[in-house]
Amino acid sequence: MPIFAANWKMYKTFSETSKFIDEFKANFKSFNKSKVEAVICPPFTSLSKAAEKLAGTEFSLGAQNMNAEKEGAFTGEISPAMLLEFGVKYVIIGHSERRAYYNETDASVNKKLKFAMANNLLPILCVGETIGEREAGKTESKIQNQIKEDFGGISEQDAEKIVIAYEPIWAIGTGKNATSKDAVDVVNFIRKTISEIYSKPLSEKIRVQYGGSVKPENIVEYMKDETIDGALIGGASLEAAKFIKICESVL
Ligand code: PEP
Repeated sequence: MPIFAANWKMYKTFSETSKFIDEFKANFKSFNKSKVEAVICPPFTSLSKAAEKLAGTEFSLGAQNMNAEKEGAFTGEISPAMLLEFGVKYVIIGHSERRAYYNETDASVNKKLKFAMANNLLPILCVGETIGEREAGKTESKIQNQIKEDFGGISEQDAEKIVIAYEPIWAIGTGKNATSKDAVDVVNFIRKTISEIYSKPLSEKIRVQYGGSVKPENIVEYMKDETIDGALIGGASLEAAKFIKICESVL
């Protein structure tokens, strides 16, 4: 089943969150949980409002990051237990912005994935290549390394719960989305890598999204190929009408 996740990044205050979710709920009438899953990942400061507004709906709540320790002297950090109190179900891990600006490595991503699952949070793991890596023909080796290291020591049973978001870094927030063929090729390569590490059944079952300048006008192209299980959306998810159109593209 496709999963569309809204990554709001550092956008939307508490009151803006409230307004967005009111509009989202009022207009997303054709929602059908058996056909599509929609997740909203607001900033931490908006989680309580989003949780309150999404209570009793079929929409899921996600966070954009978490710390891999239970608790302690980690100023500015947020633990899984803190997220769980708001009913958070998903957590984005290893977004390229966190890897680039906050020194997240495959080793720290691996630790976070394990700790998320130990706490019953479902990770949305981001992987993807830079434009330099793509032009140098290194897309597959980059993705393969990320997947191998990020999934290191994770059991097949746990791996099944991870949603992978293929996000070419050059496509994030640039308006230059990958062609659907390029996205399909890399998503199939991700499945091949998963089948080498784990098994063919898992590689077919694990959910793999595309992310990078997705909007209502281009989502249909990606969803034509059944290897792509939805999308992780930044910019276009900030407008309720656009996020709804994207989610409804599969209904
Ligand atoms: C993202 O932040 O994960 C993302 C894909 O952003 P955008 O849709 O704005 O490219």
